[in-house]
Amino acid sequence: MLYEATGYEPTTWPDSYWRASSARLPGFPPLDGQTRADVAIIGAGYAGLNAALELVEDHSANVVVLEAAQPGWGASGRNGGFCCLGGARLDAGQITRRMGRDAAQDWDRFEHAAIARVKGNLARYQIDAQTTEPGEMLLAATPRAWAQMRTQPLPQGGALLDRDDLCAQGLNTGTYLGGRYVPQGFGLHPYAYATGLARAAQQAGVRLHGESRVTQIAPNPEGWRLSTATGAVVARQVLIASNGYSDERLVPWLARRILPAISNILVTRPLTKAELQAQGWTRHLMAYDDRILLHYFRLLPDNRLMFGARGGLSFEPASVARFGQRARAEFDLIFPQFRQAETEFAWNGLVCLTASRAPYIGPVPGAEGLWLALGWHGNGVAAASEGGRCAARAIMGDAGAPPALVRRPPPRFVAPRKWALAADMALAGLVDGPMRARPN
Ligand SMILES: Cc1cc2nc3c(=O)[nH]c(=O)nc-3n(C[C@H](O)[C@H](O)[C@H](O)COP(=O)(O)OP(=O)(O)OC[C@H]3O[C@@H](n4cnc5c(N)ncnc54)[C@H](O)[C@@H]3O)c2cc1C
Repeated sequence: MLYEATGYEPTTWPDSYWRASSARLPGFPPLDGQTRADVAIIGAGYAGLNAALELVEDHSANVVVLEAAQPGWGASGRNGGFCCLGGARLDAGQITRRMGRDAAQDWDRFEHAAIARVKGNLARYQIDAQTTEPGEMLLAATPRAWAQMRTQPLPQGGALLDRDDLCAQGLNTGTYLGGRYVPQGFGLHPYAYATGLARAAQQAGVRLHGESRVTQIAPNPEGWRLSTATGAVVARQVLIASNGYSDERLVPWLARRILPAISNILVTRPLTKAELQAQGWTRHLMAYDDRILLHYFRLLPDNRLMFGARGGLSFEPASVARFGQRARAEFDLIFPQFRQAETEFAWNGLVCLTASRAPYIGPVPGAEGLWLALGWHGNGVAAASEGGRCAARAIMGDAGAPPALVRRPPPRFVAPRKWALAADMALAGLVDGPMRARPN
């Protein structure tokens, strides 16, 4: 594992607003003894649970899901709840140059289908995930970024807003100069979505086991044998859907092909109407900025402000505290009128990057029946949901189900990954420049 063991401890839940604002579910029981399945899935996040639902509902497969903690313990239960376009760190131009126009269009279709997938899941499984108004706002942090934003074509239904427009629309901050609205996506309660999927999977006939960390994957005459502390599953096919929490020792091929990175969130106490009016930030729209080490934020239904920031290289308490202070200082700069609103919840979790800058959905080369679906680049609410479905279809024989971009196995990271991450962050800090207050 790349980070300290504390970041992976399945009995420790994050101090997250999402879990605090949800009804406690009874835990799914650990695997007990030996069993068989058509497909065994490692990880009960959006990817694993969507794959399980697809396999059971559309292919009548016999499916077991093994989860080290409980469903939604990983990134799926602790993210910012931005259900939006994304999943790769490549824009359409870069994908076109790398793989051609068809691949870029294919990926664009996948991103849109992914948002529709989440919306469909919420309706189909009757999950109340407190969805917010549609669309998201990309905010320009510097005059240069704002000038650049104005030259880019707008999607259908999109809009460009200067600072006065932002103010008039209830999106005033102490820093940003303009914004670009795209009408796709919506905010949701991520833990409610994850646990709703787990309940739906169980009702559909998936055998879901919590507290069942897979400690070994070994070839077997019937396929693969997955061992946990209390049992084992033999399955012809195995899907590894553990993303940033993956244990690379389980599959030697995976070693150094993924880069787990820390993302952090803080949530304030509920803001009063007067405070919201004073800041001029009254909308519940999803918003993020164009910095490489981006900030993302939105008002929650009870008027708390949720604020996320990428960064940090360690789960050591001192490092987490230091990063938390920095994130809060940046929050105060962006929302000067909310300075007095205390942080009531703060937590972090792991996202998963790859050297190809795209997810991977496909077989482990040279290991028939062993599959991977991971690398959502910090944007997996929608992408991991649809990606899990695509992985299930690929397992059932439709090799073309995942878009071409994600069918290419990622190469290994060459440099030691923490150094690479530290260097990347330092460079991003230089390119981004210091955050500046820009009073109206
Ligand atoms: C702080 C934060 C904020 C984010 N914000 C957003 C956002 O606003 N929008 C967005 O789109 N994305 C966001 N993301 C990313 C998004 O949450 C993830 O991309 C997505 O949830 C990944 O889902 P997953 O199912 O692939 O993996 P996860 O949800 O991480 O699930 C993996 C599971 O595998 C289990 N596991 C690992 N190893 C084993 C093993 N050996 N045996 C059994 N189980 C195992 C883990 O316990 C874990 O529960 C954020 C992530 C973080 C951390």
